[in-house]
Amino acid sequence: MEALALERKAEMNRELREKLLRLKKERNAIILAHYYQRDEIQEVADFRGDSFLLAQKAASTDAETIVFCGVHFMGESAKILAPNKTVLIPDERAGCPMADMVNVDGLRKLKAQHPNAKVVTYINSSAEIKAETDICCTSSNAVKVINSVDSDEIIWVPDKNLGHYVQQHTDKKLIIWEGYCNTHDMLTVKDVVEMRAKYPNAEFVVHPECRPEVVAMGDFVGSTTAILEYCKNSSSKEFIVGTEDGTGYQLRKDSPDKSFHFATKFLVCPNMKVNNLKKLVKCLETMQPQIYVPPAVADKARTSLERMLQVK
Ligand code: SF4
Repeated sequence: MEALALERKAEMNRELREKLLRLKKERNAIILAHYYQRDEIQEVADFRGDSFLLAQKAASTDAETIVFCGVHFMGESAKILAPNKTVLIPDERAGCPMADMVNVDGLRKLKAQHPNAKVVTYINSSAEIKAETDICCTSSNAVKVINSVDSDEIIWVPDKNLGHYVQQHTDKKLIIWEGYCNTHDMLTVKDVVEMRAKYPNAEFVVHPECRPEVVAMGDFVGSTTAILEYCKNSSSKEFIVGTEDGTGYQLRKDSPDKSFHFATKFLVCPNMKVNNLKKLVKCLETMQPQIYVPPAVADKARTSLERMLQVK
């Protein structure tokens, strides 16, 4: 019975993939997928990456249509950087709770309290917040971006955990907003201690969106892309992974001979998993839902994103 159901699903996915190929050609579309997407989406993507790589790709692609398989703020960044292109997202309910933890009024109040500070915003934020920002960053380039800013005082939004990590790598004073990623913040010291006891030969690689005390336990700390690179090049054969579960797809693809254990079963972002192959095909068929950013907001937000892309 189970075998029959699996066979049916495989057949359905085959049909969906064929339809997707046809639609992609018709719409002159490119499919960008974040590393936290379901395997069935990463498998059909033209390009997989973290927020930074995907933003770069959106800015440089020749395709007329960008299908952004990720969460809403990522689709917004693509639209801001490629305003003349149609940007689709498979399910518009794919939001980011961390991005929603900061609002424009609150940020303006903080700016008024610190008139000499520059605002550095993690790319995991809405277009409206980016429009209030001097420069954006991702977890790959946060320290570089902060150190490039012409001010000793920085308002940092919205992730307090990444802010804490960055503060340890810069002499600048960070005024840190109290947001956090519900998924990464779930990982505790106890989880890591238990996994280490279970897999004593494994290295622990961790994303800086995790709590500071968890990050402090890492054998390696870095963005999703940095974790992928590290695991690929390390001589270790076994890893405990402290970032979102979807990363397993690329980790196993890069190093099929290595073992990856996720530090807890709770490292799954439900928002990222709202998208699936069926919705991806449907959005290309109907050309909906499309990402819209009001032009006045987009123009301001673009400056903060483009400044980030220029930091070497
Ligand atoms: S993993 Fe965290 S930061 Fe990323 S989309 Fe999900 S909730 Fe937002």
